[in-house]
Order: sequence, then C-alpha cells, then structure tokens
Amino acid sequence: MTRPAPRMKSYVADLHAYVPGKAGLGGRPVVAKLSSNENPFGPSPQAIAAMTAVLENSNRYPDPASTALREALGAAHGIEADRVICGTGSDELLHLVAGAFAGVGDEVLYVRHGFAVYDIAARRVGATPVVAPDDDYACNVDTLLAAVTPRTRVVFLANPNNPTGTLIPASEVRRLHAGLPADCVFALDAAYAEFAEGEYEDGLALARAHANVIALRTFSKIYGLAAQRVGWAYAQPGIIDAMQRIRAPFNVPTTGQVGAIAALADTGWVERARAHTIQWRQWLAGEVTALGNAGLRAIPSAANFVLVEFPEHGPVTAAAANAALLEDGIITRYLAVQDMPRCIRISVGTEDETRAAAAALRRFVETATA
Ligand SMILES: *Cc1c(COP(=O)(O)O)cnc(C)c1O
Repeated sequence: MTRPAPRMKSYVADLHAYVPGKAGLGGRPVVAKLSSNENPFGPSPQAIAAMTAVLENSNRYPDPASTALREALGAAHGIEADRVICGTGSDELLHLVAGAFAGVGDEVLYVRHGFAVYDIAARRVGATPVVAPDDDYACNVDTLLAAVTPRTRVVFLANPNNPTGTLIPASEVRRLHAGLPADCVFALDAAYAEFAEGEYEDGLALARAHANVIALRTFSKIYGLAAQRVGWAYAQPGIIDAMQRIRAPFNVPTTGQVGAIAALADTGWVERARAHTIQWRQWLAGEVTALGNAGLRAIPSAANFVLVEFPEHGPVTAAAANAALLEDGIITRYLAVQDMPRCIRISVGTEDETRAAAAALRRFVETATA
C-alpha cells in the first residue's frame, strides 16, 4: 500500500514566503543597491575589528545567552539586562512573540502595509492574521483598536513603519496601548528608532511599565550589521520567559555578539549615519515632490528610506519606473509583491547613490512624459 507524500500544514500552505529585496542585476554593474534599507557606509570599523578578532574561535559555540551583549544594551539604554532577549535578527524575535502567545484560533493584528513578516509570523503558528485599514499609509489608532476582538493575542506595530516610513507620535502609541486589553501583547517594532525625530516613543519605557508590551530593536539597519543577524527585545519577565523557552539555543553568532557590542560603543559612527540619513532622506523626498506634476508623491518618512507613490495608469507607473531604474543599475524595492503595485521604496544611500537614484527617476519621468 502506498501512502501519499507528506503534506504541509494547511496554514503553512496558505502563507507566502518573504520576498527579499533584489541584491544584484545578474552580472550587470550595480550603481546603487537601495532595496533593503541597509547602512550604506557599512559597519563601524571597530565592529569589523572585533568580529575579525573572534573568527579563530569559530569552532566554539557562541554564548547561548548573549550575556555581554545584553549587559552592553542594558548600560547603553538604561534597562535591565535580564529583561533583554537577543535574536537571530529581530525577525526571529517577531516569530517568537507570535509563537509564544498565539496559535490556532487566535488573531494577530496589524495595520495594512505593515511589515511583511507579521503576516508570516502569524500564519506559521496557525494564527489568523487580521489587517486593520491604514490611513494614507499610516497607522490609525482608532481603526486599529476597532479591529481588536476577544481573540486578539498579539498586536504588531512597526514605528516608524516599513515599507511606508510613516510614524505615529508617542502620544498615539500610548493611546493605542491604553486601548488594548491587558491580555494582548503589544509588540512595538522599533527597527528604525534611530532615524525618528521629535516626539518619539521607542517602547522601552512602556515595556518597563506594562506586562503586555515588548519593544523590539535591530542591529541590521543603522548599525550596519545586517549580515550578522542580531536583534534584541525588552519586556517584563513574563514575556521574555515565554520567548526564551522556544528560541534556538545558539541563536546569535559570536561575531554578531561582539560586533554589536563594538557597534553600540561607536556612538560617533551611529550619529554620522543618522545625520546623513535625515539630510538625504529630506533631499530625496524633495526631488520626488519636484516630480509631482507627473503624479509622483513622497510619503513623509521617519526611517532611512522614502516610499514613492506613482499614478496607477499612464506612462509614469511604478512598474515602469522600476524597470527604468534597474536599466540604470539602480536597485530599489518595487512593492507589487506586498500588494502595493503603485509604490517603490528607495533606501537612502551614500550621497552619490542617492543622487544617482533621483537622477534616474527624473530621467525616467522626463522620457516617459516627453
Ligand atoms: C528590517 C526590519 C526588521 C529587522 O530585521 P532583522 O534584520 O531581522 O533584525 C524588523 N522590523 C522591521 C519593520 C524591519 O524593517
């Protein structure tokens, strides 16, 4: 008697794997890779030195508890190291939140155009993703709260959000938290915290004060350590303990741990990346706005990228712009894969890269509308 081949769980069959930003052009020269919100200057030289120094220990397992890194984070942010958990990127930690607090029959809530991983994190544990309507690419707290049901176990919010760049102010973050039931985990994903300006809530104070809040951060963006896969999160012991039970034992490599510690200490490197990004984010948004007659719009961004919206029809679409930019060696993120066929997301690169992207966009618009 023959049995059928193994069959994946129905909720796994229902999910769409994450589609990463393009990394190359199949051999053609890349002028600028602006598709994954990476630090264009690379990691701090001090981080590179620290990582190089531990390569010879690669036969040894890393510290399973990322102890020194958690202590460094505790000192740098004024938080308790034993309430910090490190992950294989904050990506792993998002999955751990969903896995520890939601499952079949539960709902995981987030806003439309939220970070793509939230849908995957919900579905892979059998939970039901619930998407609240957005407000012109931003989170509307009332709409989000209106979507909460007795089955809502986790609410994910990226602030600033990716791929939109939109930010809600600290008062709105606190109002959102205040409106959530106490048994619902509020996961505040602050991957772009360092790029936000003004009245900003990174979630650390909320997570100290409330048992249902977790604040998540990453070394992949401003710290320039995306390849090392280091994320961290801060919450009260009830949440941290649940996540510790299900995480992989040696989840952050030794290079990642020492690289992150050195990167954290090089505050000058971070500050320069931050100042550069804010300056060129504004410049890039201005260049897009200057093409407003052709129907282009820059969504106001608090992160290290600018979301550009194009007309749905006519010669100047996002799909055509993406093709023209790729032709010029400029790799951005065309968001059709995230149900945003009118949008491309352009990461802020070096000055040269950012100027090249803006020039290519302008050439495309002028050619298409000539
Ligand atoms: C990039 C990103 C992350 C983190 O990615 P890791 O590399 O896994 O740390 C988390 N959330 C958002 C919204 C992001 O854009």
